[in-house]
Amino acid sequence: MSAAPRKDPVAVEAEVREKIHLEILKRTGAYHANDHVLLPSGQHTSEYIEKTLVTTEPSFTEGLGAVIAKHFAQWPVDVVVSTGPGALILSHCVARAHPSRPIVIYGTKGMSAGKRRVTLPVEFQRLLRPATRALVIEDLVSSGSTVNLLMQLVEQLGAQVVGVGCLWRRTSVDLDGRPVFSLVSRDFPTYRPDECPLCRKGTPLNEEFVHRRHHRRPSSVQETRTE
Ligand SMILES: [Zn+2]
Repeated sequence: MSAAPRKDPVAVEAEVREKIHLEILKRTGAYHANDHVLLPSGQHTSEYIEKTLVTTEPSFTEGLGAVIAKHFAQWPVDVVVSTGPGALILSHCVARAHPSRPIVIYGTKGMSAGKRRVTLPVEFQRLLRPATRALVIEDLVSSGSTVNLLMQLVEQLGAQVVGVGCLWRRTSVDLDGRPVFSLVSRDFPTYRPDECPLCRKGTPLNEEFVHRRHHRRPSSVQETRTE
């Protein structure tokens, strides 16, 4: 009788940890699995992550931020750079838990002439000096373009990028060969409707994430002057 091949214990531990992190994201309501979701692109998928919900549970965010900070604890970090206001809560939690007690700044994303653009407010640019060590934080890395642009900007200002930390990233995404630490690294397979195995099985299609954009309850209020 031959023994079953044993898995590398380090790989098993990483796998278990990733499952725990995914479970935490599921408990925030951000991660949907075993579903049949219509994406804004028109493609179908069985898994979906709602970006706006990932940091709604303070104790979870603090815990996840501490895991990222622990990974980068061996390197001194002067500044945590959030990719934008969206990743700022996570960035704060990472900075709070890092032994170097770094400060936190954030970029702003936008489009300019049809191209993605990332900028840093002037006040923040002044905090990046030559030899400043920066840790870039993003919540979800999907195409990697925002993170790549931000790293370029940070380096143009003379600072040095220690690494990139995130909650989740697509395994296939390329971040210029930088040291990346993600709590969950996963690709969600997406299908064209005519090739979708879930459609073939007759699973009802969840159109909530696409239609919610159009059938929203009032999302803003305006100040009205009654003088
Ligand atoms: Zn389908």
